[in-house]
Amino acid sequence: MVMNIIQKKAMQLIENSMLKSGTVLAVRSWEPATFHEIDVHLPGVNMYKWQSVQHIKVKVAPYTYRDYTPTLWDPITCTCTLMISAAHYGPGSQWAASLTAGATLDYMGIGSTLHKPVDGDILVIGDQSSLGHFLALRQLALGIGELQGAIGFSLKSHVQEFRSYFDTLFQPVHEQSWDYSLVSWLDKQDLDNETVYLAGHIPTIVELRKNLRIRKDFTGKVKVQGFWS
Ligand SMILES: Cc1cc2nc3c(=O)[nH]c(=O)nc-3n(C[C@H](O)[C@H](O)[C@H](O)COP(=O)(O)OP(=O)(O)OC[C@H]3O[C@@H](n4cnc5c(N)ncnc54)[C@H](O)[C@@H]3O)c2cc1C
Repeated sequence: MVMNIIQKKAMQLIENSMLKSGTVLAVRSWEPATFHEIDVHLPGVNMYKWQSVQHIKVKVAPYTYRDYTPTLWDPITCTCTLMISAAHYGPGSQWAASLTAGATLDYMGIGSTLHKPVDGDILVIGDQSSLGHFLALRQLALGIGELQGAIGFSLKSHVQEFRSYFDTLFQPVHEQSWDYSLVSWLDKQDLDNETVYLAGHIPTIVELRKNLRIRKDFTGKVKVQGFWS
């Protein structure tokens, strides 16, 4: 968007009055560094009230905002982690790759998504950009139910890293160039009346949903949260 000086000044004033700040505490980049775990401190945020998966609107460049999912949060210390997939070229991925401990994170606000845990079996499926989202859903589901599912990673090394870092019931699936390996994974699962949560890459979600619609063994519900296409 091309803005003249007056528009920029007005935008800056609005931004400054609305922006809140947090601090980056630590950054852990996977090998190669196209996936980043970013620990942040968000003072004043009441994380006790989170009952559904949240998204934070972060300023990643001048007048540019991207949504990420706060996960693994600790309401006592007001800290959480953002898990950012950054193998592509975009202002969000460039911002994530540039972060170091001590950096300031400016954000517009934190809001709820429609995903919250339900009683009963939960199956989650999504690409690597949805890892934080499903870890957040798992945190909210503690004491309610256990999640199972699959997360697609575009690099084999990240499949290995996921296995070594996370003791979870999610299975890492190597998904190269959006080849719908997650759909093949779903084809091999016995389904029943679980609630299936789909998140992340929208074309993959569309295919997964189509697959679920034609499955005779599946009598459950599907909940969708598209991120990007
Ligand atoms: C509610 C919500 C929560 C989200 N939570 C997370 C999160 O926790 N972690 C996370 O990584 N993302 C998350 N996203 C997605 C993130 O906001 C988008 O992927 C964002 O567009 C990335 O911004 P960008 O500036 O890097 O790329 P953009 O400028 O938006 O896109 C540049 C190009 O890259 C492609 N692209 C965008 N994202 C990806 C990707 N992940 N992999 C491959 N290609 C991509 C686009 O199709 C486009 O061609 C969330 C989105 C929403 C709506």
